[in-house]
Amino acid sequence: MSTEPVATEVGRDFIRDIIQADLDQGKHKEIVTRFPPEPNGYLHIGHAKSIALNFGIAQEFPGRCHLRFDDTNPVKEEQEYIDSIQADVHWLGYDWGKNLFYASDYFDRLYEWAEQLIRDGLAYVDDQSQEEIRTSRGTLTEPGKNSPFRGRSVDENLDLFRRMKAGEFPNGARVLRAKIDMSAGNINLRDPVLYRILHAHHPRTGTKWSIYPSYDYAHGQSDAIEGITHSICTLEFEDHRPLYDWFIEKLPVPSKPHQYEMARLNLTYTLLSKRVLTQLVRDGHVAGWDDPRMPTIAGMRRRGVPPAALREFVRRIGVAKANSVVDVGMLEFCIREELNRTAQRRMAVLKPLKVVIENYPEGQTEELEAINHPDDPSAGTRKITFGRELYIEQDDFMENPPKKFFRLSPGNEVRLRYAYFVKCTGVIKNDKGEVVELRCTYDPATKGGNAPDGRKVKATMHWLPAATSVPAEIRVYNQLFANPSPDASNFAADLNPNSLEILSDARVEASVAESNSTEPMQFERQGYFVRDKDSTLAKPVFSRTIGLRDTFAKEVAKG
Ligand code: ATP
Ligand code: MG
Repeated sequence: MSTEPVATEVGRDFIRDIIQADLDQGKHKEIVTRFPPEPNGYLHIGHAKSIALNFGIAQEFPGRCHLRFDDTNPVKEEQEYIDSIQADVHWLGYDWGKNLFYASDYFDRLYEWAEQLIRDGLAYVDDQSQEEIRTSRGTLTEPGKNSPFRGRSVDENLDLFRRMKAGEFPNGARVLRAKIDMSAGNINLRDPVLYRILHAHHPRTGTKWSIYPSYDYAHGQSDAIEGITHSICTLEFEDHRPLYDWFIEKLPVPSKPHQYEMARLNLTYTLLSKRVLTQLVRDGHVAGWDDPRMPTIAGMRRRGVPPAALREFVRRIGVAKANSVVDVGMLEFCIREELNRTAQRRMAVLKPLKVVIENYPEGQTEELEAINHPDDPSAGTRKITFGRELYIEQDDFMENPPKKFFRLSPGNEVRLRYAYFVKCTGVIKNDKGEVVELRCTYDPATKGGNAPDGRKVKATMHWLPAATSVPAEIRVYNQLFANPSPDASNFAADLNPNSLEILSDARVEASVAESNSTEPMQFERQGYFVRDKDSTLAKPVFSRTIGLRDTFAKEVAKG
């Protein structure tokens, strides 16, 4: 479990301002926040924003942050999700200590409180169908209609509710509703459902319950039970606040949390909805929740995104009260910045083209020194073997180059990184006329990459020795969606058909293949890559975390 220290640079935002003011006024001695995921899927980068905010606040102010699973809907919830959520929060660098809770821990108390609402004439059992309840709710402009069952006596309601609990009725036969006001301007106050019948196995309470509380009924009371002082959620719950406050007012809760709403994180080229992410997995559009193209924490971890880059990203986007869409380039920028600082440099050839150095003696090799990190001498150096047969990148050669192509072409001289100047002297083609091998000469006087006579070359290229480099599969990822604002209701149409490119003939340095490290590396001139769990003994697999080119920074600079 990762517990690396989290940057404590404190940004200011309206929530932190409120908390500071509450502390200054002595409203609280200790700030208690919580991150309340529903365990019905894996966490995504939007959740990372909420995690960093809630856990961050608990680190910056005297206080604590709870991890609470809002596990009120057993039909969609699974232990796998509970486990993955815990792993992901830890990986992001946050820890709830002993403050791990489940809404299901409170099912007994929530039930007692529901009976109390019935006894106080504030809740009733409704026999209408789901459809009838929906249509009698009214609209934004029309009031709802009272249910014909709204006038039931307390005794009848109690009896029916207890029999719902005892499992006497089938799914959907009845619900418990709050008795508030069917003509309230706020639709959330039009007799919302508190309990529904659901004969379903729950990951934690098993078959004990045949009724389950609604999210709206459970959420605020769970906060109150835990003594949450600042209950932070996203804007879509703003209209639910009057309902949460109604429960808090009517029930003998041990504390009165206050809810604050902030903007959701939205990203271009990305959908952050668990419904969509679940469907992507179920329909096989991706290889799983941790597919490196997924915006999930697990996907990003597998892709080699460092947790520090995610923390920096959510710090930069800040916390606002108005929804907006963040350019995914900003996330990529943060990933690149972090990896540029931390990733060791290596060489890999994604699409190899063989090169024979004709004037290099057959059977001879030599060890050259390569730098592991240009800005960090403590990262040290490593040896790479130069010899007569090498590989370069196919894209680094053109037989008939246009004017501004400075890399290898017949008669042109370039530098091979850490090695020598080489010049192309011949081209070998197959039957189809494709270039399959190059003939070159090298200048032994240019060892290390500089000519004693001061002559210059315009290109420095990466390369690998043919004999000791290792075959590898390299996976290059592009945006999962081709549309900058994909349509959540018809997302399949917006999928990018080229989101995964597999390069199965790639080659990497021997040192890269031998290491089992899951630390991302920079493959020089290509980007940042990380070893994937699909690697086999016979063939390592590397995923591209991100390319080197930073179009976002250029756009920012342009203004
Ligand atoms: P979805 O709507 O995709 O199902 P959710 O909001 O229902 O996601 P939860 O598990 O209920 O998922 O979310 C846990 C917490 O994370 C909530 O407090 C929620 O407000 C917050 N959260 C979810 N998505 C985002 C987002 N895109 N940006 C910021 N916070 C988010
Ligand atoms: Mg939710």
